[in-house]
This record gives sequence, C-alpha cells and structure tokens, in this order.
Amino acid sequence: MRALPFDKLRTLLINPWIHDFSAINLWSAPLGLLRVSEYLSQFECEVLYIDCLKTIKHKSYGTGKYFRQPIQKPLVLKQIPKKFCRYGITPEEFQSRLKSVMPVDIVFVTSIMTYWYKGVAETISHVRKVFGEIPVVLGGIYATLCPDHALSHTEADFIYKGKIENGLEAVIRDFGFELKKISGKRPYYKLGFLQSQFAPLLTTSGCIFSCTYCASRFLNEDFMRRSPDDILKEIEELYNLGIRDFAFYDDALLTNSENHLKPILRMVIQKGLSVRFHTPNGIHVRFLDEELAMLMKASGFKTLRLSLETVSPERQRLTGGKVRTDEFTNAVTLLKKAGFTKKEMGVYLMYGLPNQSLDEVKEGVEFLKSLGVRINLTEFSPIPNTKMWNELLENGIINKDIDLLLTNNSVYYYLYSGYDLKELAKLKLEVKDYNIS
Ligand code: SF4
Repeated sequence: MRALPFDKLRTLLINPWIHDFSAINLWSAPLGLLRVSEYLSQFECEVLYIDCLKTIKHKSYGTGKYFRQPIQKPLVLKQIPKKFCRYGITPEEFQSRLKSVMPVDIVFVTSIMTYWYKGVAETISHVRKVFGEIPVVLGGIYATLCPDHALSHTEADFIYKGKIENGLEAVIRDFGFELKKISGKRPYYKLGFLQSQFAPLLTTSGCIFSCTYCASRFLNEDFMRRSPDDILKEIEELYNLGIRDFAFYDDALLTNSENHLKPILRMVIQKGLSVRFHTPNGIHVRFLDEELAMLMKASGFKTLRLSLETVSPERQRLTGGKVRTDEFTNAVTLLKKAGFTKKEMGVYLMYGLPNQSLDEVKEGVEFLKSLGVRINLTEFSPIPNTKMWNELLENGIINKDIDLLLTNNSVYYYLYSGYDLKELAKLKLEVKDYNIS
C-alpha cells in the first residue's frame, strides 16, 4: 500500500475545459463526476473538486455562459472560418486552484464529447505540471467510447470505461491505495459540489431505442429506471436547498410513464413544489398522452425539447424509428391543448446526416412552422461506436484514423454535407427570425 501524506486518501475530481468554436451552458453539469463524489463518500477519504467549466454569467432558468479565451486553432481545423476557444476558467486560475488543494493522492477527470479531447488533454497536462507523477484516471463518455484514443492522446494513466460501481474501487486499490468503507453513500449536493443554479436529474439510464447516430446503447446496454419515490426525495432535498430549476438528463424520460414519470409528477404537484423542469436531451413524444401532457404542464415543465430529427419517413425508419411524423403531430396537439406555447416547445431537426439533402431539411422547417413550434436546427456529428459511424467507415466517407476534431458538430457538416453553405446560412437565418416571431 502507498503511504499517504495525510491520514486519509485525498482524491481530486476535475471537470475539464472545452476546446471548441462555441459552447454555452444549457443545463450542463458533470453528473457522472458528481456521482463519483457520491461513490467515494462511502469510504474514508477526502473528496476535492475543481470545475473548469464554472459559469460566469447566469441566464434564465439556470443556463449561462462560460468564460472563453481564443486559443490556437489546431492545424486540421484551419479551414473553418471561426474562432477556436478554450471555455472555462483561465489556466492561471486552474493552476492556482490545483496548488490550493495540494497534496492530492489520485485525480479523476471526466470527459464528454469525443471531439473535445484536446480540452481534456490540456487539463491533464496542467495536472501533471503541478502534481507530477500522480495517478490520473480518465472516465466519462469520450473515455468509454474511445479508450485507446484517450490513452494515446492524453497523459492519463488509466482509462475508466463504463459505470462507476463496476470497478472504480478496484482501480483505486490497483494504484496501491487502501479504501475503508465507513458509511452509506451521500448525495453530491450534500457534499457541497452543486455549483450550478439548476440541478441535473437522471431518472432512467439507457434507452429502449437504438438510433443509428446515437451512442446511448453503447454507453448503457440496459435500460434502468429509478423508483419514483427515490426521485421525489432527490427533488425535495434539492428544493430545500433552494433549487428551482431541474434538467432531466434522461434519454427515455417518457417510457412507461404510467409507472414512472406520471407518479413522479403527481407527487410534485401534490406537494406543491414550485419547480421548473427542462428537457435539454429531447423527449420521445410518441409516448405522450393527454394525461401526461397535462401533468407536465401542471408540474412546471418550462423548456420542452422534442425529438423529431427529420420528416423523411424513410430516414425515420432507417435511423431507428423512434417517432413518425403523424405521432409527432399528435403529440404537439396534446401539448398545445395542455397549454404549452411555441416559446416553451423547441423541436430538434437535424441537418448534415449522410445523404440528407438540404431540401429535406427545408421540408422539416416548413412542417414545424405549420405546427407553430420553435425549431432547433442541430448539426449531425458522427460518434464513434455507433452504427452510423461504422457505415461512414464502410462507405469510405471517413477513415478509422480521422482526427476526432473533424467530427465536431460545427465542422462535420461544413466539410462533409456537400450543402451550399450560403443556402444553409439563409435557412438558419430564416429559422432564427421565425423562432423570435
Ligand atoms: S431515442 Fe434518443 S437516446 Fe434513444 S437511441 Fe435514439 S437518439 Fe439515442
């Protein structure tokens, strides 16, 4: 066993920087990392936390802006005519915060988008500069999707794939530290790590669908639900801490709503909790019924993001069949009847999917205008280990050594969609004008 400078193991959790052309905080919180803090709370160890993505300007409902500094654009992105930035605290602030928590025995860094790997790598390089040869464990979505890439493109010692409970304890022991269990787990928000004005909620994990462009199935093989009582307890405890905005992170929030979301919302209403719910991930509206729409309105849903992606029946079928246009229309009718307005309902419509014409996107825009809902145009970005990624490889569109920076949502359509970019810019402007009208 390693000797510890303090009596207890000192662990440091870090939410790394983002390197990108744009990034805003739309209810983004490092929930996986916060769950690591909960996991560690059952052991005799100290948990320290640095969030490089501190929000500096708070906007409505708990959203906000990050500080950003222009940085040198990687060579591979030279042709993209936009500023490339580091989002989050300055390197000076990060270094000073690292020094302030010294000494530390082991560091855990999380990761999200695969094309943000440079931000992760820079974060870990600063950890190395300040702490030297300390064990650094990298987990999260990028690490799970691309473990070999993460090992070769960052200075992490160990790439942690998958769920925390599956082996984090063993990894810590393998680095030579003793872990003594002293209690049950404590929620992250009771450990003082909630740094946002909203709280993330994850009531289910995984998804019952398997869309060809999505990595949900790869990241969570099984679909799991927490109990409604457990979720209500979390909402109430956060409410008592002053939190009013809650963002659902679920991939499949409306699934089996009779036994899941409906009882939760009934309890929220019954307890008179004055909350605001948001669904940044997009919801499967095919599972919506009149009662659920009414409960969502009555319990305080304020920002609904609905997943449609495309109006092409063929593409809907080929990409996983999560919703048909007629089901979508029906759901919007129910939501409007329940009292949701255009301002509250935004619909994800994708562009830049393989072989997707701009005319198909325009058709989607016209359809959504006819329904009177807001339109959220989203760029397709290929994700490693998805079916669509494999198809792109097989068809020779991308190769296995593609720099993941090129899969950035702001980059991929620019290079690979073949769209007339002026026409696309015109469409985006039209959508912007429509959304604020
Ligand atoms: S329904 Fe949504 S979360 Fe589920 S696989 Fe499709 S895109 Fe992913």
